[in-house]
Amino acid sequence: MSAAEAACVAASAALAHFAVKALKRVRRSWETCRARRLSGGDKLGTHAAGLAGGPTDDSNRWAMALAASSSLASAVREDLLGELAAVVTAFLHLGPVSRGTRIKLVLDLDETLVHTFVGATPLLMRLGGVECAPVTVILSNQFVHINVALRPHLRDFLRLASQWFDLAVFTAGDRSYADPIIDFLDDGNGILKERYYRQHCQTVGGYHLKDLRVVSSDLSRIAIIDDNEAGALLNPNNCIGIRSWQFNPLDRALLDLLPGLAVLSRAPTTVAAVLSCE
Ligand SMILES: [Mg+2]
Repeated sequence: MSAAEAACVAASAALAHFAVKALKRVRRSWETCRARRLSGGDKLGTHAAGLAGGPTDDSNRWAMALAASSSLASAVREDLLGELAAVVTAFLHLGPVSRGTRIKLVLDLDETLVHTFVGATPLLMRLGGVECAPVTVILSNQFVHINVALRPHLRDFLRLASQWFDLAVFTAGDRSYADPIIDFLDDGNGILKERYYRQHCQTVGGYHLKDLRVVSSDLSRIAIIDDNEAGALLNPNNCIGIRSWQFNPLDRALLDLLPGLAVLSRAPTTVAAVLSCE
């Protein structure tokens, strides 16, 4: 083994060790949150019984459940933010990856980064503090006002991922629908300039399949994060699956991906080799 190869192996081992440590910390925090949520539920039951002094009517129960959910959601949120700050601070020590050597990370849009809907924001999102914003898109040649809900931790995810990878968005949605949403996510930072839409997909049996060769001819240095495995059927060795997101304010799938992405972004080997590691 050459000195350069040995250095790469040592760097990878150190990063892998760091990633596992970070992942364990995230898991511990998650367990703490779950335990806190359970004990919060018990307190609610005791409190409700004491207040009512007997059977409560439906309106009382609803009001108490709302109040408890609200305080519980903010307690859990504070806990998560504290943990997130620790993880992000740790990752910042890794520093950015130099532009010439970066892997390309392709991001699906709907149910991976955002959930869009028309009408009032669901109660669960409001209580959980999910960031929502009104955006105007064009659907079937008509302007439509939609709400865009950001998956929890998306802002921090994009900030870190944009320092480690060259980012691109690949959606099965039309350009007139996707561009206003991606512009909103990019927020003028210029990190989501490279975009691919339905017109770049292959349509097979009604499914819109994403072929990463449209994005890059070098499949050894490209990966896609997608909630729809069918979307990445053509390049299974480059796909990082993520569960679909719609409403859950406690979702942390993007946060959980960061340690693995930290390793991937610095891998001196192919994407397929890293993703196939057990
Ligand atoms: Mg999707």
